[in-house]
Amino acid sequence: MKDDEHVVILGAGPAGLATGHELSASGVQVSVLDRNDFVGGLCNTNVHKGYKFDLGGHRWFTKNEDLNTWFRRLMGDEIVWVERISRIYYDGGYYSYPISILNVIKNAGVFTIMHAGVTYLLSAVQYSIFNKSIDNMKDAYVAQFGGKLYDMFFRRYSEKVWGLPCEKLSSDWVSQRSAGLSIWTVIQESLLQTKSDNESLIEEFMYPRDGYVRIPQRMAEDILDQGEANEILLESTVTRINYRGPNDFEVVYKKDNGEEQSVNASKVVSTIPLGVLPRIMQNPSCSQEVIDAAKGLTFRALITVNVILRKERVSIDTWLYVQDEDILFGRLHEPKNWSPAMVPDQSTTSLVLECFCTKDDHIWEMTDEQVGQRCVEDLEDKLGFIKASEVIDFSCVRSLQAYPVYDLDYADKIAVIHEFLGQFEGLHLVGRGGTHRYNNADHSIEMGLLLGRKILGQDVDYMDVNTEPEYHEIKSAKEPARDFYQVEGECK
Ligand SMILES: Cc1cc2nc3c(=O)[nH]c(=O)nc-3n(C[C@H](O)[C@H](O)[C@H](O)COP(=O)(O)OP(=O)(O)OC[C@H]3O[C@@H](n4cnc5c(N)ncnc54)[C@H](O)[C@@H]3O)c2cc1C
Repeated sequence: MKDDEHVVILGAGPAGLATGHELSASGVQVSVLDRNDFVGGLCNTNVHKGYKFDLGGHRWFTKNEDLNTWFRRLMGDEIVWVERISRIYYDGGYYSYPISILNVIKNAGVFTIMHAGVTYLLSAVQYSIFNKSIDNMKDAYVAQFGGKLYDMFFRRYSEKVWGLPCEKLSSDWVSQRSAGLSIWTVIQESLLQTKSDNESLIEEFMYPRDGYVRIPQRMAEDILDQGEANEILLESTVTRINYRGPNDFEVVYKKDNGEEQSVNASKVVSTIPLGVLPRIMQNPSCSQEVIDAAKGLTFRALITVNVILRKERVSIDTWLYVQDEDILFGRLHEPKNWSPAMVPDQSTTSLVLECFCTKDDHIWEMTDEQVGQRCVEDLEDKLGFIKASEVIDFSCVRSLQAYPVYDLDYADKIAVIHEFLGQFEGLHLVGRGGTHRYNNADHSIEMGLLLGRKILGQDVDYMDVNTEPEYHEIKSAKEPARDFYQVEGECK
């Protein structure tokens, strides 16, 4: 790299900060711009009356031991270990997640499991022997689990998250989330109560004691400590990028007070939505075809309802998935079960309820008060978890770009956009919205670190992250322990 490199990073979420972390550790000057007044993007932790609420429970988990080593060094003694207890609320009963065959028999009876077995065999014949094509999310689930388990555990929840029938969603989401999960692993884990020498389903995970936002905050602290020239500019919405030639950009941003400012960059790293970026690029600006493709890359939104309760504990779960359509939220977690430090008074507790929606739909149009009241009613009347009188307070947080939607032609739209953006030498895309890829935070961080390496001149493929043909809930005992991301002095 040249000495006068100045990398401008759009977005102070995990992906942008990881890129900045890797670059600044090698002495490259970075400016990170974000429209929010906080760092962390979707990994933010909101604080209300001393109670800390992630934007939906965020766990740290990666199968990449290099990255775990990097993470441990970054977070030091802030890490706590959390036992994973996830359940699905289905038809008035609670089922373990990941699915356990014994638990299904206990809850739904032998007839249901026989029904599941028959539909699984049927789909095995259709998809494995007769090579039936997998055209959408429903096909992908049925091929993997059979029709009955799909209907019990995947259809209703997926449709609640995405707001679309599974037939209208791409199978890619299933391949990214549960490819490689064999029904035999599930049977072995649950029925035989044994663990394979090579792989097992994840049972515990790491978490930052004071909330997930500590991960991006730690990266931001390191970036600023690496040199006075580095900056993280908040309340700065990027509105325009002028391309003046290879590795020569002007990034224009608007401060929250309305003032327009700009910064020059030799490289631009974008984590802002892939559907937005082409429309703010200039010289050249994009065609109508690219605009249409960009508009077609949509997100599912999220309203998280944060409830403070005069009660010691509500549940044992790390997550509870709620499938029923007549319950407004789709998932809940109790922050105290992740780390006691999430509540200021141990005789009280709190809940985070995730309501999936789309901008302007009937849920999004509800006021915060209405959403909160409705969630409290559902908790009391439908789940019997609390009494309304135990509620001390609630607040709502709205996130418009929570889940990148994989509709049936999203990959074609991405290809059109990539072709346009490919002409800007020195522009790099990374992250969840930035690549329109359903990344976890660890994926976004890994992509960001690798992109940093690439900009530093190494031959790495950061776009390969989160494309592994292996189930992400399986931890392999064969995973090699390496230390690829170590940069001397990069962490406190
Ligand atoms: C409910 C929920 C639960 C999750 N649970 C987990 C979990 O358990 N484990 C896990 O690992 N991951 C989890 N994730 C995923 C995790 O939050 C994301 O993968 C991660 O935040 C993505 O990081 P990113 O930097 O790629 O994107 P983001 O976090 O979206 O960051 C992008 C940043 O760009 C900024 N930006 C956008 N447009 C502009 C603009 N024009 N100008 C300036 N700035 C802009 C945004 O403000 C944002 O800060 C969860 C996500 C959700 C929604």
